[in-house]
Amino acid sequence: MLGLMMKQELMISDLLTHVEEVHPSQEIYSRESDGSEHRYSWAECAVRVKKLANALLEAGVKPGDRVATIAWNNYRHIEIYYAVSGIGAVVHTINPRLDPAQIAWMIGHAEDAFVFFDTTFMPIVAGIHAQCPNVQGWVELTGNLNESNEPKSLTSYESFIAGHASTIEWPRFDENTACTLCYTSGTTGNPKGVLYSHRSTILHAWAASSKDAIGIGATDTVLAVVPMFHISAWGMVYSAAMFGAKLVMPGPNLDGENLCAMINQEQVTLMAGVPTVWLGVLEHCRSHQVALPSVQSAVVGGSALPESLLRAYEEELHIPMHQAWGMTETSPMGVVNQPLPQHAGLSSDELVPIKLLAGRRIFGVQMRLVDDSGEQLPQDGETSGHLHVRGPWVASSYFKGAGSDAFTDDGWFQTGDVAVLHPSGHLEITDRSKDVIKSGGEWISSIEVENAACDHPDVLMAACIGVAHAKWGERPLLIVQPVEGKKPPREEVFACIAEKCAKWWIPETMVYEAALPIGATGKILKRELKLKYQDDKNMV
Ligand code: ADP
Repeated sequence: MLGLMMKQELMISDLLTHVEEVHPSQEIYSRESDGSEHRYSWAECAVRVKKLANALLEAGVKPGDRVATIAWNNYRHIEIYYAVSGIGAVVHTINPRLDPAQIAWMIGHAEDAFVFFDTTFMPIVAGIHAQCPNVQGWVELTGNLNESNEPKSLTSYESFIAGHASTIEWPRFDENTACTLCYTSGTTGNPKGVLYSHRSTILHAWAASSKDAIGIGATDTVLAVVPMFHISAWGMVYSAAMFGAKLVMPGPNLDGENLCAMINQEQVTLMAGVPTVWLGVLEHCRSHQVALPSVQSAVVGGSALPESLLRAYEEELHIPMHQAWGMTETSPMGVVNQPLPQHAGLSSDELVPIKLLAGRRIFGVQMRLVDDSGEQLPQDGETSGHLHVRGPWVASSYFKGAGSDAFTDDGWFQTGDVAVLHPSGHLEITDRSKDVIKSGGEWISSIEVENAACDHPDVLMAACIGVAHAKWGERPLLIVQPVEGKKPPREEVFACIAEKCAKWWIPETMVYEAALPIGATGKILKRELKLKYQDDKNMV
């Protein structure tokens, strides 16, 4: 017997209609590429979204067509998200930090009909447009076009939407229709397209906003440092509309000074970003005695949270830090670290090891661990294995059938992460399978070694990689980026590692790098370090 409830497709346009009707005056603050400020309400945003939707329809954009963005977190980018998906087309978000040749490849692979880009990225567009013959129009996110007459089909955003009707009857269609295409950034191989649907996007926004996940409500001012060009800013553009939160979109300058000023000016309550961004904020707070009293929660994900960063936020800045884990393929939210009742009486020192776990899974996301032969492993808090996930906002395959070996025959996605699952429901990431160091046939967790090294006050960041070794197969090499002006002695850093890790995990060698290579999504590029240090001569 079927239930007698209405069948209403989950549509992204409904989010806009909702926020327009229920929270019309809630603000979106945005910092533009030229440094200027922009502030308007969700109701004003909705008017411009509809103008853009009508402009796109008139330009010939049809359901299923791909419309690319190369843009920072700003208000016009939000408008594009809602207008493109609202008419049944697909927003293809492009990471501008990628190599231009790779961007041109993605535009071709995605068959983008239009490309909207921030002024900052004009040099990229100038360099690649000739290699993208199928793009019908290039739209610069500005009101005033510079004197450029290349590419030929260049328009400014404001003239593109000007004169178009500000009303529209949003079409309704199958909720499984694609809305966003995001390529994995390729830290682990060639980029592969993840194609989100209206249904997966809304379910993810709902679940990720809940109290035990990111926790977003109408009284929040949300600083989305995580970029809209990578996994839709962790869905926060949608969650903010769903719950009527104020959004703060920081634009291009994500340095500590700029972010601190914005946080205090806009009275941010909730912020989300990768550890490297929070490190920059912390350094500025320390060096300029800045406090961030409005912030009630900082969500950190994308790579492991070092203990030193967690303690600094909680003890010095008095900001609770919540770790999260996710991937492009999981929309991204899979787990978030929020308190459990049994932790109520614990001291802050006792809580630290719990907070350093990636978090507990959100309802909807299922996980299992398997060994090399695919046999399922226990979730006992000790055994580590390959992490598989499934759920309504987890990819079932890649765009155009790429990388099909990542998906198992029985319906799971193989994350490529090595993890431990705890009986408490916590996920602990020990490594990426390709970063794991195999010494004498046993695994060394590069993440644990790195985090322990960061306990030394003069170590800003650390990367631990495996280098070939005649006897052991591989041994760990530690590469540290010291705090400016410092040079932490090896023995002291190794002593920090000895406190947290097995003796045989301690590297024999440590080298210094003035700046570790950071990739397009703010993570340390271990691939580059492996290339550099596979050869002994670089180990000076
Ligand atoms: P890429 O790193 O290739 O750009 P993603 O942005 O999708 O791709 O990154 C997903 C990966 O980031 C995960 O598979 C995991 O290895 C890593 N990651 C994310 N969150 C955490 C975390 N809290 N702890 C450790 N690793 C994490």
